[in-house]
Amino acid sequence: MPPGELLGMSQALGHRLRDGGFPAPSEVRKVGVLIVGGGISGLSAAWRLAKSGVDDFLVLEMESEAGGNSRAGQSPLVAYPWGAHYLPLPTREATAVRELLAELGVLQGNPAAEKPIYDERFLCATPQERVYRNGLWDEGLLPHRGIDAGERQQQELFHSRMEELKQARGRDGRRAFAMPMALSSSDPVWRDLDRIPFSQWLNDNGFMAPTLHWLANYACRDDYGTAYEQTSAWAGLHYFACRNGEAANAASDAVLTAPEGNAWLARGLAQKASGRILTDALVWRIEEGKSGAAVDVLFGAKTVRFEARQVIWAAPAFVLPRVWPAMPGDLKAAALAGDYSPWLTANLHLSDFPEERLGAPPAWDSVFYNSVGLGYVVATHQLIRRRLSGTVFTYYRALHDVSPAEGRRLLLETPREAWAEGILAELEGAHPDIRRLTTRLDVFRNGHAMRRPVPGSLWGGQRQLLADFRSPRLTLAHADLSGFSLFEEAQYRGVLAAERVMKRSS
Ligand SMILES: Cc1cc2nc3c(=O)[nH]c(=O)nc-3n(C[C@H](O)[C@H](O)[C@H](O)COP(=O)(O)OP(=O)(O)OC[C@H]3O[C@@H](n4cnc5c(N)ncnc54)[C@H](O)[C@@H]3O)c2cc1C
Repeated sequence: MPPGELLGMSQALGHRLRDGGFPAPSEVRKVGVLIVGGGISGLSAAWRLAKSGVDDFLVLEMESEAGGNSRAGQSPLVAYPWGAHYLPLPTREATAVRELLAELGVLQGNPAAEKPIYDERFLCATPQERVYRNGLWDEGLLPHRGIDAGERQQQELFHSRMEELKQARGRDGRRAFAMPMALSSSDPVWRDLDRIPFSQWLNDNGFMAPTLHWLANYACRDDYGTAYEQTSAWAGLHYFACRNGEAANAASDAVLTAPEGNAWLARGLAQKASGRILTDALVWRIEEGKSGAAVDVLFGAKTVRFEARQVIWAAPAFVLPRVWPAMPGDLKAAALAGDYSPWLTANLHLSDFPEERLGAPPAWDSVFYNSVGLGYVVATHQLIRRRLSGTVFTYYRALHDVSPAEGRRLLLETPREAWAEGILAELEGAHPDIRRLTTRLDVFRNGHAMRRPVPGSLWGGQRQLLADFRSPRLTLAHADLSGFSLFEEAQYRGVLAAERVMKRSS
């Protein structure tokens, strides 16, 4: 058993919010805008404020570093992700994503161009993906070896249907599936797809091929941490149909990535908030007043009270009822209406690249067909250096096969060795010598990793109540307002919250 640690979001701190017993404030500070949560949404709010010349703001993050689900680790060899690891080529609608990428020099030329040029160092090197099935690696995500003509025909039909849906518009002229999702058509023809599970949509539309069902389920597990039987068909189709971004120097299915996953994007956003991000800062109480809000924050053993003119809540929605005693009842119900999928990631430090089975060559993302885990990404894939003294594999698994509560219990109670044994046994099928090469295996647990887009959760219900909420002092951000968690959604919600706050103050 290789050595390693059992890591994760600070459960102890989070659970303290439930148990209470915080010290009374011993100091009072004043600030213009207080942003709670230093994930992508909170950092995006800070980015937008700073770019607009507002400098009287602070970001409070309860962990010891900002980034939330987009944080990374670092070994002497390479950086590697603990969570988010890629960004698809941004859609035309994702203007803030394009603006950020241009600012960071990754999108070159006009940010509004139909096909911008992207910095090659961030375009995923080929091969991008492969899938392991029946002892062979197949290039791409959809298996194409060993399938009959009928199945192949269904795969082609599904592909052309998704291409059609990329172009589809509602009666209001908006795209059926846009990214950010809030810009999608409100036409019931499309929105009503939220009422049924994605698995049913496939069956209703005559898509019966096992490889297609596997792909649809994989997509929902990968992006939402949820099986396709429990995912809204609107969300399932959104995965395939929203991404219409193109590049002048890459294929349209290319993704932007880096050894450290999306942590470079978090850092890029944070640059503008330099000196204004306070870590190890747990917000435990918010009280709205007439001229501002009082926010109590635990730093170590002491509480500091911040008197803020405006608060942006960029932490998960389910935490808000614990810290805001006077939270309106309907908003509280909306915040608690959705559940979160529990996730597990692991970083395997390898002394060398492992033995390969036949088929497609090593790719950035290696996926396992009909397996409990989603597969792994290779941190060194983007490095130009030819000779490497090892690598790091980041393994992903959503605990979609049990209820979220059971998944969280498993995350709390299962020792690292048991997870590590399961992961090594799973990878061993494709890489027989993986145990011998693994010098370290760290496991990272995230009990409330992402809000689940279950059927009925996206349109016309509690999510919209969260997204539309207005109060004089408190504005919500966070990807939870979109009902599923993606970089583009988190950034959109953060930027929108900052714009609303600035409008209110002007
Ligand atoms: C395993 C995994 C893989 C993923 N892969 C991808 C991917 O490849 N691409 C992609 O686009 N997205 C991916 N995601 C989704 C990812 O969640 C989003 O991209 C994005 O990082 C979400 O940002 P956020 O700000 O909405 O939320 P969060 O990351 O949840 O940030 C919220 C922050 O609030 C802090 N906080 C909570 N409570 C308090 C409190 N009381 N006081 C102070 N701070 C508090 C938290 O510590 C956290 O840092 C992945 C997620 C996971 C879990």
